Amino acid sequence: MNISRILLLILSASVLCAADGGGHSDGHDHGTTAGKSSDALQQLIDGNNRYVEAQFRHPHQLAERRMEVAKGQHPFAIILTCADSRVPPEIVFDQGLGDLFVLRVAGNVIDDAVIGSIEYAAEHLGTPLLVVMGHERCGAVDAAVKGGEVPGHIGALVKAISPAVVKARGKAGDLLDNSVRANVEMVTAKLKSSQPILAHLVEDSKLEVIGAYYDLDDGHVHFMK
Ligand SMILES: [Zn+2]
Repeated sequence: MNISRILLLILSASVLCAADGGGHSDGHDHGTTAGKSSDALQQLIDGNNRYVEAQFRHPHQLAERRMEVAKGQHPFAIILTCADSRVPPEIVFDQGLGDLFVLRVAGNVIDDAVIGSIEYAAEHLGTPLLVVMGHERCGAVDAAVKGGEVPGHIGALVKAISPAVVKARGKAGDLLDNSVRANVEMVTAKLKSSQPILAHLVEDSKLEVIGAYYDLDDGHVHFMK
C-alpha cells in the first residue's frame, strides 16, 4: 500500500468520525450546537407555546429528515421525564426526529442506566441542555405520597421518590404537587453533581441542567430557573 492510499484511508476515517459529533445541517435550527443551552431552551419554550396554542409545525418528521439523521444524531436537548402517556416530549415541545434525546421512567427517577444514557448524550453527542420534567398529578409520586405496600417492582420507584415527599411535607399547599416539584429539584441536584462526567460538564459550562413542571390541564411547561 502506497503513502497516498494510506493518507486517503486516514482522511476517510476522519470524515466518518466527524459525522457522529458535528453541528446541525438541517437548515431549520438556530445555531443550537454544544454550549448553546439558552438557544436550546428557547427552542423548547417556542415549541411548547406552539403546542399550547395548537399552532404545530411538526418539524423534522419527513423522510428527508429521517435520511439526514440516519447518518448521525445531534439532539439539542436531553429530556428526562415521566413514562406517563400524557407527557410525550416530542409532542409537548413540537419537535421531531433527532431533536430530543429522551429518557422516560415513572416519576422521572434516576439510576445508573439513566445517568449513563444522559452521560452519553451530554458528553459524546455534546447536547448542551438537560431538562428534568415532572408533571401535575404524577401517579408515581402519588404512590410515594400515599406510602404503604406496593406490588412488584413499583417499590423501587416509591423508594426513590420518598425523600422528596419528606421534603415537601409541612410546606403550604398541596402535598402531591409540592412533592412533584421537590422530586424534580432533588433529581436535578443529583444530576448536576453526578460524578465523574455530568458535574464536570456543568462546571465547564458545557451542560445546563434545569427542572421543569408540566401542567396536564393547559399543556404549559414551566421551567424552574
Ligand atoms: Zn408521572
